[in-house]
Order: sequence, then structure tokens, then C-alpha cells
Amino acid sequence: MTEPLSLFDDIFSDLGPAFKEVIESKVLKYEDIEGELELMDPNDTEEVLGEAGAPICMKDGHFHLGRVREPCVGAGCRIDSYCEVGRKVGSFHTHPLVGVWPSIPDMETSSRESEVFFCIGGRLKDDRPYAACYISTGKKLFINPFVPFYQFSEEPRGNIRFWRQEPEMETEELLSEVFSDRDLAWEFGDEPEFEDIECDTEEELGARIRERILETGDMPERYYDFADSPEGEWDTLDSYAPEQGERLMGEAFDRLALYYNAQGRYL
Ligand SMILES: [Zn+2]
Repeated sequence: MTEPLSLFDDIFSDLGPAFKEVIESKVLKYEDIEGELELMDPNDTEEVLGEAGAPICMKDGHFHLGRVREPCVGAGCRIDSYCEVGRKVGSFHTHPLVGVWPSIPDMETSSRESEVFFCIGGRLKDDRPYAACYISTGKKLFINPFVPFYQFSEEPRGNIRFWRQEPEMETEELLSEVFSDRDLAWEFGDEPEFEDIECDTEEELGARIRERILETGDMPERYYDFADSPEGEWDTLDSYAPEQGERLMGEAFDRLALYYNAQGRYL
């Protein structure tokens, strides 16, 4: 393994431009978020708080960013993915608000996936794209659940309340994960829309219902009558101002020093 300090140089020179591009296209500027105090509509939440992420891959001694995905919202959002070219050595994801220190789930995921390092990007002073990378020291992470991991000396300027809700399960997912052919026959066999299907066994009926559902893309009405939508809950994220960012990053790096060699740079 290369010495951490020169590894940072390699990381930023290979990946800096790609980080910058993702941040510029996916992370809103502070002034665009400033007025947002409460996000109830999942579409607004996604626009303001959505994160993008990608694997960091290595091939022929150089790092590159794998395919960028934008799947989720809120603390603990991490992107599991693999490299189409080369091997996965780490990951990159964005934080929507000021502060690219890792959340506890960020660290836990990175360690579970045996990443050599991971990077987080966002906007800092004057809304400039900034990324920090964290190279594990090898020390096992210890989390005291009774004490906040970070205890910053500065208060957030505000916080954003948002409604966190898991997306509904997709029809295809329901068919592959939840409903066997027998279940489909049993639950939906008597529905008028399937009355015309003629067959001898329940399995056969179920298989035919499955085909029809896949054609239309929607579960039969009866499913939606019975299924509860996934429950949501209010969640809150602290919102710091850009001019606080560098000082807070310094405090975060001190806190993390046992576990990670960390370095942040403007891109
Ligand atoms: Zn994160």
C-alpha cells in the first residue's frame, strides 16, 4: 500500500474532475436550499436532499469513477454498486448540505465492504465543489450509542425537516420476492379481470396471472386495496452555512483521526 499522503494526491488527480462534475450537476447551491425548512412532498425531498453515488474503481494503477446512481435520501444513504471495469476499491457519494464528514452508516458501510478509502463531495465556501477522502487506518470503529459521534463547537444555522418514506415496492419486485404462482392464483384468481383464463391447476392459473400483470405493469386492484403504503416518518438534517464548512471539516477530521486519514480539497 502506498503511503496515505501520496495516495491522496493520486486519488484527487485521478478523480477530482469526475467528483467535480457530479457535484456540480447533483448538489444544489446553499442559496437554493436556504429557504427550505420543511419538505413534505417526496419529489421536493428528492430534489433538495437526494444523494448521488458511484463506486471508485481501479484499473492499471489508476482510479476512475464507476456508474453514478441517485437512489436515495437522508442520513445513511449509501450506494452499493460494483465496477464494470476494474475492481472496486472505494466509493464516492454526495452530501446535499454543507458538511462532507461521514455519517455513521457511511463508515459502517465502507468497513463492511472492505473499501480501501471513500470520498464524499458537496459544496463548501462560496458554494465551491469540495470533496474529502477517508483512508481507513485499520482501527475498528467503535460507536457509543449514547453520545453523538460529532460534537461541533458551532451550532447549525437551521435544520431541514423532511418526510422520509420508502418508495413503494415495484410490481416486478413483488412478483419475484413476495408472490408465488400459488399465491397469485389464490389472491387474484376470482378477480373479474382474470375470469377468462382457463386452466387446470392453481399453479397454471397463477403463472398466467403473473404474465398478465407483467404485461400491464400494475398489480391487480385488490392488491392496492389491501396493501398499506410504506409508512414514512419525519426526519431532520442540520443545515450549516458555507462559511462554517472549513472549520467544521477540521473538527470532523480531528474526531475521525483514530479511524481515518482524511483530507479535503476544493476541486
Ligand atoms: Zn453520507
